[in-house]
Amino acid sequence: MSESKKPRVVVVGAGHGGANVVALLRQKGYDGEIVLVGEENVHPYHRPPLSKAYLKGQVPLEELWIKPTEFYGEQDINTRLGERVTAIRPETHEVELGDGERLDYTALVLATGAAPRVLPLPGTDLDGVFSLRDKLHADSLGGRIGRGHRVVIVGGGYIGLEVAASTQFLGGSAVVLEREDRALARVASPQLADYLVGHHRSHGNQIVTSARVTGLAGEAGGVRAVLLEDGRRFEADTVLIGAGAVPRDDLAASAGLRCTAGIEVDLAARTSIPDVYAVGDVTCRPLPGMTGHFRLESIPSAVEQAKQAVSTILGLPAPKPEVPWFWSDQFDAKVKIAGLVRDIEDTIVRGDPAEGHFGIFHLRDNRVVAAECVNSNADFMAAKKFIQSSAPVDAALLVDPSVSLREVAA
Ligand code: NAP
Repeated sequence: MSESKKPRVVVVGAGHGGANVVALLRQKGYDGEIVLVGEENVHPYHRPPLSKAYLKGQVPLEELWIKPTEFYGEQDINTRLGERVTAIRPETHEVELGDGERLDYTALVLATGAAPRVLPLPGTDLDGVFSLRDKLHADSLGGRIGRGHRVVIVGGGYIGLEVAASTQFLGGSAVVLEREDRALARVASPQLADYLVGHHRSHGNQIVTSARVTGLAGEAGGVRAVLLEDGRRFEADTVLIGAGAVPRDDLAASAGLRCTAGIEVDLAARTSIPDVYAVGDVTCRPLPGMTGHFRLESIPSAVEQAKQAVSTILGLPAPKPEVPWFWSDQFDAKVKIAGLVRDIEDTIVRGDPAEGHFGIFHLRDNRVVAAECVNSNADFMAAKKFIQSSAPVDAALLVDPSVSLREVAA
């Protein structure tokens, strides 16, 4: 009788989503084979510091590991770092690696993340033009910024604003060029964006909105300036393109998985093809109580989906749904956001922004659906509970910071 083959989970992508899937599989008692394939030649690391503490030189890579490097060997997780999966063959339950090797799987998890959006502008191939998504990008960018260095950033999202704040810390100056009529248009409320932009301006950074970038000008192969349609020219020693991220779903799409704005998954992290799961920035996912699919592009969402995928693969009960949340640090502002700022009927600011700590609560039908909290963890924790319970709140009490958050339930 032939020995039955061990089951094998193959995880493609060694970012936050992939690393959490492999760790959770072992934590939940899976004793089959685990293979983690990652394109970068380093163990999985935390990416948020790349635009903040790591860029500023405050933490070394060794402090960014998601799990200690020995963990993978100790847990019998086969890491294939510096390797690429080039094809998925769902009909034979196999993936193909760059060198032609085939790996069969009982379950496949795609955690391929997102890539910086490439802008079709003249001059983006000049020296000194960067995007920021991985450690190598951060090393090259951080190595350049110093006293008097002028960084022009195309895109006023979180990457743009966080790198602008880090540039000031390193002694440089930053200009952020945003094409919308305000910064953080896609991801934050006007109230939070106004506060953060004010913060940047008071530190000497320039934020230019409704900016139509037409190209980058260079000299001797290096970038010198960013040009706007209205004729303005911003002199630059370095240019960062922080104009959004696109899901890396080509592999999935060519294998026939349903992809819209990313790989479509359900609340169990299942894709449209049996035994293939997807987690993290590459997915567009449902949210309980909301219609449609969303690209959340956040670590808490990737971790939640890792739990969903592992529970489904192992046949365990589904994990409790979590409230989506995000964070950002800029200068001394620690921003935490719970819920999604959309379809808002009423907004209440609790606390005084001038004091540097406050919560912006967004309501629909007298219920908190999102909150953006600056240096105010108490507001953030309460907001998550309000969103989770969907209980009505008394707006007149919520606005008054002298009233305890425990007393604002209607
Ligand atoms: P983002 O949040 O999508 O912001 C990009 C901004 O650039 C958008 O406002 C976009 O406007 C604008 N833009 C696009 N094309 C432009 C152009 N040609 N000229 C000027 N502005 C333009 O993306 P990001 O800041 O680049 O961040 C990339 C990824 O990293 C995202 O997944 C993000 O969530 C993640 N990240 C997260 C954090 C955090 O959570 N703290 C921090 C850093 C990075 P439109 O909306 O009009 O396209």
